[in-house]
Amino acid sequence: MARLVMKFGGTSVADIDRIRNVARHVKREVDAGHEVAVVVSAMSGTTNQLVAWCREASRLHDAREYDAVVATGEQVTAGLLAIVLQDMGVNARSWQGWQLPVLTSSAHGGARILDINGAELIKRFKERDREVAVIAGFQGVYKETNRLTTLGRGGSDTSAVAVAAAIGAQRCDIYTDVDGVYTTDPRVVPQARRLDKIAYEEMLELASLGAKVMQVRSVELGMVHNVRIFVRSSFEKPEDIDPHAEPSGTLICDEGEIVEQQVVTGIAFSKDEAQISIRRVSDKPGVAAAIFGPLADSNINVDMIVQNVSADGSTTDLTFTVPSADYERARITIEKAKASIGYERLDTATDVAKVSVIGIGMRSHAGVAAQAFGALAKNKINIRAITTSEIKFSVLIDAVQTDLAVRTLHSLYGLDKT
Ligand code: ADP
Ligand code: ASP
Ligand code: MG
Repeated sequence: MARLVMKFGGTSVADIDRIRNVARHVKREVDAGHEVAVVVSAMSGTTNQLVAWCREASRLHDAREYDAVVATGEQVTAGLLAIVLQDMGVNARSWQGWQLPVLTSSAHGGARILDINGAELIKRFKERDREVAVIAGFQGVYKETNRLTTLGRGGSDTSAVAVAAAIGAQRCDIYTDVDGVYTTDPRVVPQARRLDKIAYEEMLELASLGAKVMQVRSVELGMVHNVRIFVRSSFEKPEDIDPHAEPSGTLICDEGEIVEQQVVTGIAFSKDEAQISIRRVSDKPGVAAAIFGPLADSNINVDMIVQNVSADGSTTDLTFTVPSADYERARITIEKAKASIGYERLDTATDVAKVSVIGIGMRSHAGVAAQAFGALAKNKINIRAITTSEIKFSVLIDAVQTDLAVRTLHSLYGLDKT
């Protein structure tokens, strides 16, 4: 007997038929003798609709009320799955975030989980013949005000990993619409290969650089609490799964568990980028502080930064990127600070994309990025900015060339399916 968390994303619970399919997966694990907590997302499209309604109601809506609205999607699925499970003869009860409770920070719309009380769930596994807990993902409660909070888009992954840590689950299965983590998004590159295992650190980079298969914070939590996260497909028929065989999917685990480490593990991309170039800014001490200070004060995350070598000794060009959602605010902030920074003009671009190459092997292999620059040049892909760190590098390019760049790098590093 094991204790398991099973998380099902939006497409996996898109309608009652799909919820029945999910219930059969749950029943399969219960019948195998396991204690099961299920975490569900809202039915696909629901959260988008709820967010759109908030925006339509008021562009500047109260974040607490936004949470009151968007948290409802998960409540519906949790209740429906509990009903379907009961109908199949499985003992089940739904839980909303405040009922466990899932305690979070006060950052409405993007709250962090602080603590989950798993005691009641464990008690019920023991006393109520392994009652299945069906938990609404994505939501929690801020204790001081007793108000509902949500965890940011894709946050049900984080709910699942946090529940797994709270109840000491042997595994946290993330059931989704792909059968694992691939070398890149399989919808963009059909030659992408499924990885048997990926290290937390690499998954963290992939997720934060654009691969939305797991929310970044869920991977962070998994790494801190050592939760074994297994990404697999909910589309596999429950009846076809051999309970004694190794399931197919991708295990996110410690680096030490991966025997055959490749130099490059995967490629991520993000089109939610915007570039701001400040032309002819004075080349003197204090300028970077004059630029990035006000941006930090406005809570804008600056990502890539490139400063050109000064041609005339007195002025230079400085380029940086921000998430598209922050572009307008960033531009206005820099325009407002023009007098204290001192520059000639701003050039901006919103049709840019960031493509990133990730692999722990880069720590010990030189020249990995250099290969990419050659291959991109051969395909006439212009690089606007570059950043590198220990286990990844990113290039900023024109958004229209994203797919070509991803495919080029994917084959360059031998990631294509053979
Ligand atoms: P869910 O609704 O189950 O949470 P998501 O849509 O959030 O599912 O995440 C699954 C999607 O992530 C896949 O459909 C796939 O297109 C995308 N994806 C992006 N990068 C990758 C990758 N490297 N491996 C697998 N899937 C990826
Ligand atoms: N329903 C939420 C969203 O769409 C949370 C999730 O699916 O993980 O972002
Ligand atoms: Mg998701």
